[in-house]
Amino acid sequence: MQQDSPIAIIIDALAFAAHKHRDQRRKNKGASPYIYHPVTLAHILVTEGGITDPVALAGALLHDTVEDTETTYAELVERFGAEVADVVMECTDDKSLPKAERKELQVEHAPSMSPPAKLVKIADKTANLRDVASHPPADLTRSRRHEYANWAKRLVDNLGEVNPGLEASFARAHAAVLESGGH
Ligand code: ZN
Repeated sequence: MQQDSPIAIIIDALAFAAHKHRDQRRKNKGASPYIYHPVTLAHILVTEGGITDPVALAGALLHDTVEDTETTYAELVERFGAEVADVVMECTDDKSLPKAERKELQVEHAPSMSPPAKLVKIADKTANLRDVASHPPADLTRSRRHEYANWAKRLVDNLGEVNPGLEASFARAHAAVLESGGH
């Protein structure tokens, strides 16, 4: 696939991710189909960041396939090429580590990420904050939501300059979580 046109790579990434995540649901109240999340990232990149780089867009669509499905790095390299596969790996946590440690590692690794992986990361955090503000998981208290938003901000600050439109979108999403009410 890596010899194909940019649009072919992106659509193939969409089909591959839809298949891999086909039985998964998000943890929000409506338990939306999982694929909604990677599609949202790609949509944010295009409409709010003006991004057309197929490596970033395919990376966004595929970013959770290794972490949350049985997909392997080798499988991604074979189908999408090493550049896209490497972006996915940069966005994949080591699930053998405790969650708190994984979250700290994300903050630590942020400055050294590749430019397309940084784009995926900021779109991911923006999408997650919007979910937290509008459809919070039932068990997420107000103080936990604020804690999550502030961790995401430390991470995004550590990415450095990424893209002005995406940085503005992230800042708005962060503010919306801090302003959200509830308990
Ligand atoms: Zn994600």
